[in-house]
Amino acid sequence: MKSWKPDLAPFRKYKVKVFERAALVSNFIYQIGESPILRQSSKPVPVNQITSKIFQQKIKYLKNCLLKYRKLTGMGRGIAAPQVGIHERFAVIYNPNSHSSSGKLVTIINPKITKFSKEKNKYPEMCMSANPVIVPLIRPTWIEFEYFDEMGQLQEWKTKHHTLLGKKLNRVFQHEIDHLDGIINLDRGDPKEFILESGPKFYKNAKFEEV
Ligand SMILES: [Zn+2]
Repeated sequence: MKSWKPDLAPFRKYKVKVFERAALVSNFIYQIGESPILRQSSKPVPVNQITSKIFQQKIKYLKNCLLKYRKLTGMGRGIAAPQVGIHERFAVIYNPNSHSSSGKLVTIINPKITKFSKEKNKYPEMCMSANPVIVPLIRPTWIEFEYFDEMGQLQEWKTKHHTLLGKKLNRVFQHEIDHLDGIINLDRGDPKEFILESGPKFYKNAKFEEV
């Protein structure tokens, strides 16, 4: 005799991990709805204040938050100041190829985008402040922008997208600069395409799709 069997949702054990990961970081990363500054434009940092003791402490705190996030979750490529309750225009990005004096954590202060590529691609984006929803999102493939580094020196980002890392970095920079304008990835995506990370190989298999 045939019997009915439920059609089970996939990777249920893994989904528990995904939610646990979100919970682990919720005591230092503001989640959407928890702070109005996540949804406001952040204040530019006065350039002559960048090397001040107070501002350097804020940079250090933001870097430590990214390191802590990476340690707890094994992921996380960038973090913007408003995500940790600092209403100022700066962000920290993890660049494994960076050989700057400040190591692999690159601080961008008062970034100003000067060019967007005409080419666009689509990629599933996660945000520490909207865990664990993933938003497949179309953005320009690369950007160019100016910023101040943590020593107060004006710098330019002009690295195009030829490598996978280059594509990811151009994507992360756009995501973090959006945060400084109060924009979350959820705002730019199609809610019907939102997904939940549902398997351990999700990010390993994630691909940039040319559109
Ligand atoms: Zn984010």
